[in-house]
Formats: sequence, structure tokens, C-alpha cells
Amino acid sequence: MKTLEIGEAYIKRIGDKSRLCSNISWGDRARTLWFEVEREYEECLCTERIDGFLVALLPFAMIENLNIHSMGCVSERLLYQIKTILLPSLSANIPEFHFIDIDAKSDGRILESKNGVGTALSGGVDSFYTVLKNMNTETKGFNLTHLTYFNIMNHPQWQGYGEDSSRDFSDARINYVKPAATELGLKLVTVDSNFDLLYHEYVLVTTSTFRCFGTVLALQKLFGKYYWSSSYSFSQFNFSDDIAFFDLLSVQCVSNENTTFYSTGSEISRLEKTAYISDYAITYKYLNVCWMNLYNCTSKCDKCKRTMLALYGLGKLDRYREVFNVDEFYRNINEYLAYLLLKRINEKKKQSRFYDEIYQYYNAQSVKIPKAAKVQAIKLLWIYKHKILEFIQALFNRGTMESGKPL
Ligand SMILES: [Zn+2]
Repeated sequence: MKTLEIGEAYIKRIGDKSRLCSNISWGDRARTLWFEVEREYEECLCTERIDGFLVALLPFAMIENLNIHSMGCVSERLLYQIKTILLPSLSANIPEFHFIDIDAKSDGRILESKNGVGTALSGGVDSFYTVLKNMNTETKGFNLTHLTYFNIMNHPQWQGYGEDSSRDFSDARINYVKPAATELGLKLVTVDSNFDLLYHEYVLVTTSTFRCFGTVLALQKLFGKYYWSSSYSFSQFNFSDDIAFFDLLSVQCVSNENTTFYSTGSEISRLEKTAYISDYAITYKYLNVCWMNLYNCTSKCDKCKRTMLALYGLGKLDRYREVFNVDEFYRNINEYLAYLLLKRINEKKKQSRFYDEIYQYYNAQSVKIPKAAKVQAIKLLWIYKHKILEFIQALFNRGTMESGKPL
């Protein structure tokens, strides 16, 4: 079994930015990985521990079946939790993740810290819920002090746009959320990194969570607490290659002596979060759920359609005219409602129930779904089934031509 060597962390200055770097190697391959911040945050980059690199590299090492060795130091609590809880649990339940060993020194001393409280501001429903829920609370030590945006594989179609394409998307999104952070009165900390290059061929939902946790730990001298916005509720906890389903375990295991992670928003459903944020005017200007485009596409991607359908059911869609093409939605409302009906049938086989929740809410609130939308759904279902039949037929025909005999 090969070993992934993680070098000790060091700082390198590039222009007015500062990078936390580590030289890594495995087999005959080697590269330098880095997290880059504005110079003012250089003092918060953690050179005393390799925690950030270790956590961000966990999916890579487990998928590639590489033991980890380092001459650097790991936080004691982190090393214990990863070795005794996280690794055995993941390798026993997720086929892609192998059980690996980690050989490194540990240190349980607390580092000097700014004790900030942070969370990501992507502009989506989950992140806005976490932000708005954790400002001006009675528990002062838990009120947000910083918002973050990381260049961590933000674009789901990034593989089609070249190796390091997420940076352009990320930079554009940073410019989009900057004024929102200013209006909220919070500092925005942006982090660039080159982990995209290492993870270029890997599945987003299997690796991104730990890469974000690693990025926070690279700045563990800035963050005493970090809120991790969950996509799913606690009741949906299970082991899956979509690692967001077990956030509750992950946040426990990646917390160390300096930074405690919390899974936020898991206490309620997506629709309830949408209802909560729709009472805050800042979301009318900055809600941005689209992963396909820089701004909400309204009609092309699943997330935009789903969010609009939820807001429509809640009676709040008209508040979002600045960020969605609401008129287009109303013009084609039967198509959107047909989409809801079809997606609900499809997701019954899956773990997520976003559309079913919206549908049940429509029923409870007597939101009408016209006959025309139901007919449209049946038509779409028919077309879909017909296409599957054509596909099967083509497969058999191809088999006949290639092999000379029927399959
Ligand atoms: Zn979209």
C-alpha cells in the first residue's frame, strides 16, 4: 500500500496575498498544495498543524487507498476522532472509501486565536438561513463575525470547462456576495486554493465537504466556531457517497481544540428554511441558488425551478422579482407545476424529498394544480418512457449489427 506524504505547513507570499502551503507526494508523484488569503489574514494561517491539509486530503487518500504519513503535527482531538470514529465508520459503510492509517505526531495545545465565528455565504437558501439565524442572538459568543467564500469546486460542470475553471466562477460569485456581506455588516474572508487540480476527476458530493472543512482548519487561528450549512435534515442521516447526509458525524470528527464545527439548518426542512429567509429583505436582492450560471437561470436548472416552486407555494415568489424572472414563471406555470409532479415521482426512489415536501405543502395550503399541468406531466412522462424504449431498441439493434447475432 502506497503512502501519501504531507509536508509541514509553511507560508509563502505572492503579491499582496499569503499562501499556506504543503508539499505532498505519493508514489512517484508530487505537488505543492495551498490555501491563499488576503495579507491581513496571514497571521491566522495555521503553520503549527497540518490539520487543514490532512482533512482536505482525506477523501483523496481513502479513495486512492493511500496511508498518510507526516512529519508535521496534527491537533490531538482531531487525530483521535478521525482515526477512531471517522475512518472506521466511512470505510465500513461507503464502498469508495478504503480504511487507511495515519502516522503523525499530535499536539493538544490550544493556539492563540481571534475566536471569530464564521460561515459560508454562497447566496443559497441553506447559507442564508444559517447567516440570518446566527446574527444578533442572545448568545453573544455565537453571533457571526465573519462570512466566507472558498474557491472549492463551486461549479458542478467544472470538468467541462478546463482544469482550474472554478476560479473564474468563484471570483464572479465573490463579487456578487460582497455587497450582501457589507449590508449584513460582516467581514467577508475569501480563500483561493489549488485543490481543484488534485480533485479534478473526482465526484463533487464525495469530496467537497472535507475540502471545505480543511480550508476552515487552515484558518483555525481565526475561527473559534464555524457553522456548516447542511442540505439535509437530521432525520435523513445515513451513510452515502453524498457525504452531506452524514454532516452530523463529520462536524463532530473534524472539530479540534481551536475550532468547533456545527451542523446548522438540519433541525428543519428545506421548505421551512425557504419560508424563514423569505421574511428578510436582503434575500430579495441576493438569493442566488443557481449552480449552472452566475445568476439564477429561472428555467434551465433544477435548483432554480425547485426554489421558485417553493416560493410560489409559500406565496412569496413576487418578492423575488430582482433575482428571478417571475413573469416567465407565471407565463409557463403549468410547465413548472408539471415538472414538480414528475420530479416528485422520480425522487420517491431517492433519499431526498425536496419535491414531495413542496407538493404536500401545496395540498395542505390548497394551492391549486390545474388539470392542464397534470396533463402536461402525463405527456412528459409518456415522452420520457418512449425515449427509454427507443434507447433499449437502439441498444439491441446495435448489438445485432456489431456481433452479427441478436443479444
Ligand atoms: Zn439555475
